Amino acid sequence: MIKPLIAANWKMHKTIGEAAGFARQAKAAFASITDRDIVIAPPCTALAAVGEILKGSTVGLAAQNMHWAEKGAFTGEVSAAMLIDAGCDHVILGHSERRNLFGETDSLINKKLTAALTSHLKPIFCIGERLEEREGDQTFHILRQQLHKGLNNISSGDIRRCVIAYEPVWAIGTGKTATPEQAEQAHVFIREVIGDLYGAAIGNTMRILYGGSVTPDNVAGLMAQRNINGALVGGASLDIESFTKIIGF
Ligand code: PEP
Repeated sequence: MIKPLIAANWKMHKTIGEAAGFARQAKAAFASITDRDIVIAPPCTALAAVGEILKGSTVGLAAQNMHWAEKGAFTGEVSAAMLIDAGCDHVILGHSERRNLFGETDSLINKKLTAALTSHLKPIFCIGERLEEREGDQTFHILRQQLHKGLNNISSGDIRRCVIAYEPVWAIGTGKTATPEQAEQAHVFIREVIGDLYGAAIGNTMRILYGGSVTPDNVAGLMAQRNINGALVGGASLDIESFTKIIGF
């Protein structure tokens, strides 16, 4: 069985003080949880403070984005080494908000994945189709393309350190969740594509999260699916009670 991972993506929410308060509560509340991994992705400004609090705890720390270069004249950007310095072990890459609002392409995401893996950060690599693509029967085509291009030249050694998050764009922040069956169908497909690229042993053990309006009410149905190995949670992860319920699915 693949150990589930529950990751909180706070997006552009929480001050340093608010993030630190949550992290203290999470560190205490989740200390004895061993049957799932938990990761929190605060905004960039709060990473170092939350990293300090989570040191030595069972809760991991993720950034929501990073630049692919080691250093240089990239105003406003942050490198993998800087994230590690702040205490990060994971980084979310390819989120649909980065793709759709900030123009990130599959090839740019591939550069970021490569840089993250070179620096020993574990990427949570997001993929997913838009509503019009689902309605136009393009879902599998889009997922295959995002995987092939995003993982271009990523070795089989490195892919083992990646987590994939299937996040249908139409379900993110909309309150519309994919049904467990829709999500499971996409996850089976993703596993097959990873199997084609890297062999069945890697495909079958790849950790694939579902993301898109996960709440305490719908998480159990999603996690009961054979090929869903955790969740990437946005809105419902901002409140410690709701996030704790999701973790306890
Ligand atoms: C996300 O931001 O990755 C996400 C899934 O958001 P939400 O849970 O709010 O839909």
